[in-house]
Amino acid sequence: MHIEQTLKLDYQDVLIRPKRSALPSRAEVDIRREFVFKHSGHRYQGIPILASNMDTVGTIEMAAALSPLGLSVALHKHYDIDALVDFFTRREDAGMHFYSMGITRADHDKFERVLGRAGAAIKNVCIDVANGYSENFVRFVESFRRDHPALTVMAGNIVTGEMTEELVLSGADIVKVGIGPGSVCTTRVTTGVGYPQLSAVIECADAAHGLGGLICADGGCTVPGDIAKAFGGGADFVMLGGMFAGHDECAGESVERDGKRYLRFYGMSSETAMKKHAGGMALYRAAEGKEVLIEHKGPVAATVQQILGGVRSACTYVGARRLKELTKRTTFVRVRSQANDVFDRE
Ligand code: 5GP
Repeated sequence: MHIEQTLKLDYQDVLIRPKRSALPSRAEVDIRREFVFKHSGHRYQGIPILASNMDTVGTIEMAAALSPLGLSVALHKHYDIDALVDFFTRREDAGMHFYSMGITRADHDKFERVLGRAGAAIKNVCIDVANGYSENFVRFVESFRRDHPALTVMAGNIVTGEMTEELVLSGADIVKVGIGPGSVCTTRVTTGVGYPQLSAVIECADAAHGLGGLICADGGCTVPGDIAKAFGGGADFVMLGGMFAGHDECAGESVERDGKRYLRFYGMSSETAMKKHAGGMALYRAAEGKEVLIEHKGPVAATVQQILGGVRSACTYVGARRLKELTKRTTFVRVRSQANDVFDRE
């Protein structure tokens, strides 16, 4: 047994300290980013915020709403082959979105069939599993990279620098960071496993950038300020589930309670998701996700405006003219000692 003594922080443990700035207005801040991916060599231009590949949020409707605003979607894994081929071949903006897959034989075969029909229209693939520390996962990323040198690969999830390096060296252009921080994730309470998300972002970004790779901070953002903190900590992309849930563009059942409309939102390894997609929970496993009701929020565009306004304003407070400069200009102030409430015990 070993105890790691250095302090690890979540988003709510810090604030960004204001700095002198010559920027007259937040309207002058450029929050688009441009990257050339290490392995695929593709050039990315856009606002590096993605809707998560959860079946309620990573929808085709969400992609249609977010692409004109410059944001991307990781489509969820449960669309059928025809729907995916249709999406990638018909939409001009399909190249900014991600095809998502796991690492089973069935995931691999489905991807090859979609790729066979959609061809070069698919540019980005998100390969994700709950535990990116398994050897099978790393081997899968390696062989996927060998087979598809021109595709941009995002792979995860992991939370430590050494695993980030291993994934970048195995062929990931973007490493997805986050185990346990998600709004409907119960991994921390069910298994005791996890890592405070801001520290994971800082450490993994440092490791990835040293090798010319990038990271995507996935999970744990509940307000626009958290997204600014993720970028300030070094995230190149930020993935959001809960903040994009509850909108018109989301899938899933809506429920009326006391005259208000709510949408069901649940973790992808919750009992709800298992029943829907896998015919029930396997006996050997426990759910690592929960279901919540989210009050209906209307069109996602209004939420995006709030988010981008917050990130722009954060840049103004520290004098960053471009989102790219935010990390360099960020000093975090700790606002409380690590409390016992790093996870929700409900
Ligand atoms: P949020 O933005 O809602 O805080 O976090 C979204 C992320 O939570 C997703 O992108 C995914 O990585 C993670 N997630 C989604 N469903 C589950 C689940 O059932 N269990 C766990 N452990 N994580 C989940």
